[in-house]
Amino acid sequence: MQAIMKPQVIIIGRPNVGKSTLFNRLVGKKLALVDDQPGVTRDRRMGDAELAGMSFTVVDTAGWEDEDPDTLPGRMRMQTEVSLEGADAAMFVIDARAGITPLDEEIARWLREQEVPVVLVANKAEGKAGEAGLYESYSLGLGEPIGVSAEHGEGIADLFGALWPIIGAKSEAAEAAAEFAASEDDDETLGPLKLAIVGRPNAGKSTLINQLLGEDRLLTGPEAGITRDSIAIDWNWTDPKTGENREIRLIDTAGMRKKARVVEKLEKLSVADARRAVDFAEVVVLLLDATQGLEHQDLKIADLVLQEGRALMVAINKWDIAEDASALFNGIRAALDDGLAQVRGLPLIAVSAKTGKGLDQMLGAAFELRESWSKRVPTAALNRWFDDALEANPPPAPKGKRIKLRYITQAGTRPPRFVVFGTRLDMLPKSYERYLVNGIRSKLGFEAVPVRVVLKSPK
Ligand code: GDP
Ligand code: GDP
Repeated sequence: MQAIMKPQVIIIGRPNVGKSTLFNRLVGKKLALVDDQPGVTRDRRMGDAELAGMSFTVVDTAGWEDEDPDTLPGRMRMQTEVSLEGADAAMFVIDARAGITPLDEEIARWLREQEVPVVLVANKAEGKAGEAGLYESYSLGLGEPIGVSAEHGEGIADLFGALWPIIGAKSEAAEAAAEFAASEDDDETLGPLKLAIVGRPNAGKSTLINQLLGEDRLLTGPEAGITRDSIAIDWNWTDPKTGENREIRLIDTAGMRKKARVVEKLEKLSVADARRAVDFAEVVVLLLDATQGLEHQDLKIADLVLQEGRALMVAINKWDIAEDASALFNGIRAALDDGLAQVRGLPLIAVSAKTGKGLDQMLGAAFELRESWSKRVPTAALNRWFDDALEANPPPAPKGKRIKLRYITQAGTRPPRFVVFGTRLDMLPKSYERYLVNGIRSKLGFEAVPVRVVLKSPK
């Protein structure tokens, strides 16, 4: 399959306007030289840029420097023209503090004749000193200037807003292509499902593990995250729904503990087991005892799992001897949704470790849960949802000043993490934050996994 290239954005401008500083800001590393002397940036530099989750290649041109700063030097111009050919967008940088110079006007004239879309960037716009230059730059005939401070990282959200309509789709396509390439060996990248079973003493953890493994026991370890109190067990589970053979790595803390005849208080131990298991596992199954119901200790263990960002599910064991089964199930469902509101609707499955009932369903759900825990939503889809969510329920305007939410990006997976950019975020009510989190969970397929959202002002 043909790889889709990231969009390319070229930085153009006369010397000393802050091109290298902007390049560094976008690439995030000190690659280009920055100096007060004009003409330091002699060569073109390319770097992988990221702007609020949008990736592109940024090119810092040699600029337009010459001994005579008021002419457009042919050699530089040629080099820039060559760069421009591959570019999807150009950022034309001016110095808002210095105002518009004849050379700026000459470059602007030349740029207007080119086919590449141009974003006019008025740099050094921090504070009041840049205001005049910012307005003056409208005269260049390149549309609305984007006021930024490359040095202080201001105006980055606006820059994103200006570039997104031009290169967003291409960036998205490149991202999707890269993701597709990676997903072709998805199982390999995810590896065996790392699963842990935790729960209070006598919930049936050992019985469950024995039932799962049968004779098919393969002991491994020790390895990272597993202490001498625990063992890892690798085995292959055949999904009866798909016939697929899937690898599972199970951590067994309870079995070892029993063998070691530890005399510590059992209650304390189950929490210690959970802690160990959580270090190791992607998905944690909290096992309840149908004859005991859900207790405070269970919620404590569940909370610990979620705090660590692991995917959590609950299985009610001993279903073979459960009384008033449907009332029990509904009662536990309601208590979980109440006590663990941040993962409302988490998978809840009735099982019997003794008979094996429900265990395939439990494992199938565990794989599905890992999938959403590891999922990445493309930036475009994410922002489409975001725009709809803001339109359906706009953020409030405390004291008449509207809180501006600009865009959202997924910063990470396992667990899914999101960053929302905007202004006046300190005034955003918690209820609105919850509205967004609930939307991410229900509309973007992150039900039942712990989702983290951070608010960030671009300043
Ligand atoms: P280039 O020649 O266009 O690549 O410009 P540089 O990136 O080398 O920057 C030239 C000078 O402007 C340096 O002294 C930078 O520190 C300064 N500079 C860059 N960006 C800003 C900014 O946003 N605000 C202010 N006040 N100075 C900046
Ligand atoms: P652990 O402390 O969580 O490892 O629990 P065990 O696996 O040792 O089980 C505790 C007790 O519950 C044992 O007597 C098991 O036989 C019993 N038990 C476990 N699972 C089931 C089940 O599904 N049904 C029934 N009826 N009893 C079970």
